[in-house]
Amino acid sequence: MNEKIIRQALLHEQVDGKLRCNTCERNCEIPPGKLGFCQTRKNIGGKLYTLEYGDISSLSVNPIEKKPFFHFWPGSRALTAGSWSCNFTCPWCQNHDISKSPQKIGRGKYISPITFIEMVQRCNCQGTSLSFNEPTLLMEYAIDVFDLAKEEGYYNTYVTNGYMTLPALKLLVDHGLDAMNIDVKGEAETVAEFCNADVDKVWRNAIKAKELGVWVEITTLVIPGINDSQECLKGIAQRIKNELGDVTPWHVTAYYPAYKFRDEVYPSPTPVSTLEKAQDIGKEEGLKYVYVGNVPGHPYENTYCPGCGKILIERYGFSLTRYEITPDKRCPTCHQEIALIRGASSVRVQTGKSETGGRKNDLSALG
Ligand code: SF4
Ligand SMILES: [Zn+2]
Repeated sequence: MNEKIIRQALLHEQVDGKLRCNTCERNCEIPPGKLGFCQTRKNIGGKLYTLEYGDISSLSVNPIEKKPFFHFWPGSRALTAGSWSCNFTCPWCQNHDISKSPQKIGRGKYISPITFIEMVQRCNCQGTSLSFNEPTLLMEYAIDVFDLAKEEGYYNTYVTNGYMTLPALKLLVDHGLDAMNIDVKGEAETVAEFCNADVDKVWRNAIKAKELGVWVEITTLVIPGINDSQECLKGIAQRIKNELGDVTPWHVTAYYPAYKFRDEVYPSPTPVSTLEKAQDIGKEEGLKYVYVGNVPGHPYENTYCPGCGKILIERYGFSLTRYEITPDKRCPTCHQEIALIRGASSVRVQTGKSETGGRKNDLSALG
């Protein structure tokens, strides 16, 4: 194993001869010689180590819309990286090849933070994104990358299940985390049953991140029979509005059978009509920006003015095909203020449609 990927972990404490990892809300108590739940952290001789610092499984130059972020630097590109493993147990994981493969830890390509930022520059990106597997597990690497990114004027983003501890969240923000897309996977019972996690911790972190000045967008992968009931979707929409604010974007995205949910006894892909129902529920509950995801060309991919209904940002998949928000972040017709981080000067509008496929791996091309 490459020694560079084994680094002392930052957040932990001694408890009864074990080490309690304080990176995520599992707070694993790890005896000497053993691994935590996610298998990325190990107690070696009474010290806690991360085993995947900079051990990159996937690397890709992505439109920021792909994360998805629709109100944060629209039209920009983020160099996006992931490593291995996860701290959740979702049986439908859409990225299970890397998130459910802790045995592959150490088999990625080591990319130092400096090299990563050089790639951001070389690939003409405007920022970084840690994604694909759960980036909380890459926290030590993230803060080193974020520090360098800030020195060069780039933004930093996380696509996350939102299960880090508060000290971990604070550390990430202190080192330059600008935006988070947080998965809210369903009601408390569903998240406990399938993900083995407490969804209230996720909501707590979304609220705290906003308080700390991080731009937050919420995503719900809508899975038939799991989290597609009127009651569940309404409950999520109400919490977004009441706890995060009505301008917080909510992405309701299509699921495809994967991992343990891939044979005929498990749910089939999300019908578009279900996503449209979710979008309607979000709007009825007062959310200003609700988007259907993973359905390229759907009209609910666009941003409509909450004041007059005009299309302000037209999208096809992850490309912008029209952008009409004024430099002072308003609708040009009715002058309604639009929730947006970074104005029109950075926006790249494309003509025609671009590919919208899954995670592409540019590791070899960029190495
Ligand atoms: S990151 Fe979370 S799951 Fe992994 S060892 Fe630490 S507390 Fe456990
Ligand atoms: Zn308007």
